[in-house]
Amino acid sequence: MPDPRKKILVIGAGLCGLAIAVSAARRGFDVACVGDGRCGASLANFGQLHSGAVLAPVLPDVAQACWQHRNDWPDELLHPARVGEPRGYALFTTAEAVDRYRTAWQHLGIDVEEVNPDRLAFAAACPPAAAFRIPDFSVDLDILHACLTALARDSGVSLLPRCRAKLRQNPETGLATVDDYGGRRDLIVLAAGADIPNLLAQAGVAHTLGQRRIAWGRHAGTRPTALTYWLDGDLLAISPDRSDARIGLPSINGEYGPNEVEYARMRMALTRRGLHSSDAELRLQWGTVCEPSTARADPTSFVANLRDPPPGWSRVLNLFVAVPGKWTTAWHCAERVVSPLEEEGQLS
Ligand SMILES: Cc1cc2nc3c(=O)[nH]c(=O)nc-3n(C[C@H](O)[C@H](O)[C@H](O)COP(=O)(O)OP(=O)(O)OC[C@H]3O[C@@H](n4cnc5c(N)ncnc54)[C@H](O)[C@@H]3O)c2cc1C
Repeated sequence: MPDPRKKILVIGAGLCGLAIAVSAARRGFDVACVGDGRCGASLANFGQLHSGAVLAPVLPDVAQACWQHRNDWPDELLHPARVGEPRGYALFTTAEAVDRYRTAWQHLGIDVEEVNPDRLAFAAACPPAAAFRIPDFSVDLDILHACLTALARDSGVSLLPRCRAKLRQNPETGLATVDDYGGRRDLIVLAAGADIPNLLAQAGVAHTLGQRRIAWGRHAGTRPTALTYWLDGDLLAISPDRSDARIGLPSINGEYGPNEVEYARMRMALTRRGLHSSDAELRLQWGTVCEPSTARADPTSFVANLRDPPPGWSRVLNLFVAVPGKWTTAWHCAERVVSPLEEEGQLS
């Protein structure tokens, strides 16, 4: 059993920070979590609980992790947050790409069902050549975050007043400290999303993380009944939200262009499917993710225990860094932080 007097501070109250805080509190640790009140990627993303179906032929490792770990999300949190139908749709303009996806789905064991494309009323403006029901769905991120925050409170996590924590490293002890939380903390877990590289740099901790900006859109004129992907051509994703739809397009060769280019790309993708009638309906937004820049790092849950740092990182005896890659895999990321604390007695 963990020593309940041992104290963990989680920096960042997005979906990953809260999942870590809940997992640790449930294991009996004394956990506090501080967030700065900004929305972060957890409250501003496509809102898709990925099954891996869409990523299967392109990023099989990420797809496999999503397929394996999305069920770690408790139904009590997902159920109230679900928007639209409980399963999404993968549509194909032509039948050419279908075999590639079908093979990848079979390989990973992802459960899809072919459906008659003529029966899909929401795709009537641009009837697809083939359609599959896939185990992906959309969530209302505000509701999901509120439910997870309540669960954290119920699990005994101290949610500290909103404050931007400053990470430092004590030159004498080599331990990480956080200003304004002068109380003793045996371990600090950094789950601050895209801000992690800046916080590490401020504390003089060497790392190998990078940041990447992602363009996305909100479309007021589209209200699909289900999460819908067009899996050939430009790979348009349409995710229903409470009053509009979140629009996603993948980058081209890893890059997004300037505002006007991304806006035009999104507008074109919607127009092609008969979904866009007025420019007043479409709003372009940007989000930022933090990712490991080293090859072979697990893109779905990067966890660094700086007591035993990975290559390119400084050694800090009391610091973990957690980056989920996708919120779908946030609980997997949390497990990778908390299990070793329990098993290896990191806090002893
Ligand atoms: C455009 C876009 C679309 C995406 N779509 C999907 C999707 O559909 N499905 C999916 O599974 N994943 C998606 N992702 C990825 C997913 O959003 C992220 O992996 C996940 O939300 C990261 O969660 P997090 O808790 O680690 O970080 P965040 O949600 O960013 O939370 C970190 C929090 O820490 C706060 N913080 C930062 N510094 C400090 C500090 N010093 N003190 C206190 N608090 C601090 C931040 O303000 C923020 O509130 C998408 C990402 C983007 C950008």
